[in-house]
Amino acid sequence: MEWETVIGLEIHAQLATHSKIFSGAATEYGAQANTQACAVDLGLPGVLPVVNREVVTMAIKFGLAIDATIPEQSVFARKNYFYPDLPKGYQISQFELPIVANGHIDITLADGKSKRIGITRAHLEEDAGKSVHEGFGDNTGIDLNRAGTPLLEIVSEPDMRSAEEAVSYMKKIHSLVRYLGICDGNMQEGSFRCDANVSIRPKGQEEFGTRAELKNINSFRFVEQAINLEVERQIDLLEDGGEVVQETRLYDPDKNETRSMRSKEEANDYRYFPDPDLLPICISAEQIESIRQELPELPDAKRERFIKEYGLNENDSLILTAQNDLADYFESCAKKVNSSAQLCANWINGELTAALNRENKDINQSNVTAEMLADMIIRINDDTISGKIAKQVFESMWNGEGTADEIIEKKNLKQVTDTGAIEKLVDDVISQNDNQVKQYLASPPEKQAKLIGFFVGQVMKQSQGKANPKQVNQLLREKLK
Ligand code: ADP
Ligand code: MG
Repeated sequence: MEWETVIGLEIHAQLATHSKIFSGAATEYGAQANTQACAVDLGLPGVLPVVNREVVTMAIKFGLAIDATIPEQSVFARKNYFYPDLPKGYQISQFELPIVANGHIDITLADGKSKRIGITRAHLEEDAGKSVHEGFGDNTGIDLNRAGTPLLEIVSEPDMRSAEEAVSYMKKIHSLVRYLGICDGNMQEGSFRCDANVSIRPKGQEEFGTRAELKNINSFRFVEQAINLEVERQIDLLEDGGEVVQETRLYDPDKNETRSMRSKEEANDYRYFPDPDLLPICISAEQIESIRQELPELPDAKRERFIKEYGLNENDSLILTAQNDLADYFESCAKKVNSSAQLCANWINGELTAALNRENKDINQSNVTAEMLADMIIRINDDTISGKIAKQVFESMWNGEGTADEIIEKKNLKQVTDTGAIEKLVDDVISQNDNQVKQYLASPPEKQAKLIGFFVGQVMKQSQGKANPKQVNQLLREKLK
């Protein structure tokens, strides 16, 4: 039997406001426990929540970026459940009337094709506090700093058909919220996390299978692993004559397994109802238009522009525009070089990215600035150094040894363009390789074009990579006639 995977994601993006969604308490990460929770966050009697205007603006920005509807009215609802990290006994969320509805984004698949993924809704809600199990013996500590932190929950349609598609979707949303400046996207700090709903069905069957929900996954790699594991588990189950039960499961990256947390029967009945402490949010067409004016250029538009304006290939353009800061880096570099944009892209997506990954750094923490890289590429273009030597220059720049020009000077890496000096090397190589010369002379022109590579290689080696390859080629061709 052939199975098809069906996936829908619920992504929680923490909105990058300074204060909480319904109170003035700070949202800064890493503060001492319970120093950033005020009376509202603690749910003390007599307090009233007040909506942070900024979270509404941010949610609308997201809605516009995914081509969604922004309803004239949206309503906050109470989601009732008991848990020690939820002092009010309910979480303020949105239920029937979310602030964003019916959007979509396009993801790019491995074969370069694009696929549209529907986004059912995005709603505003507050985060809960955190239980702390370490350092309290048999007891549990509660840190309420996170209580009331604003979240945008982004719910997709069950449109994804593989773990790769789910990762690609998650990356696209990640890229989008960072472009919009509404979420810092820091997954280690939990600012961007997701629940993956996974089911399988016999290929060709229309009806969806029963889904399991994998909770709180905070890395792209884990999403992929967790989904693949879950699909295998469900296939095994069904092929052994069993049944998938609707349940919530937890992915454990250390053991690389998923475990059941609770089944549908044990699931809470949240008794949602509109929160009487909060008025509906009413948005006018003018407000939406003025927010639309503030939108930055978004990833898809930037990607198209890079292809048109700089002549980049699709793939490099896609990689460079996934992150706004990376795109800016590229543009500064390409503008300074003022030609050879594709060469800039090659260096950024090749050498630079490798160096960043090696040290687990973000583009903003790069040891080599866009200007430094541009200055080096200018030296390749004006034939001061070859592309090969440039790798050495790049490494030295990365290691803090100075600018390209300083390094070229200090390490004596200038390309040899003195024809006399190159001619001498060419003569040496020809006289030292009698057999190859004979073979070359006896070959037809197409074959000669290949064989000449050997001689070029020898000359380059003897010049320690510094001879100008164009000149070497030309001289060899003349001398080997
Ligand atoms: P809940 O509120 O219980 O989590 P929703 O109906 O809001 O349920 O769905 C949550 C997510 O589950 C959505 O992203 C949706 O696309 C996805 N989903 C729903 N049914 C399935 C299914 N059969 N297989 C995979 N994903 C599903
Ligand atoms: Mg859910």
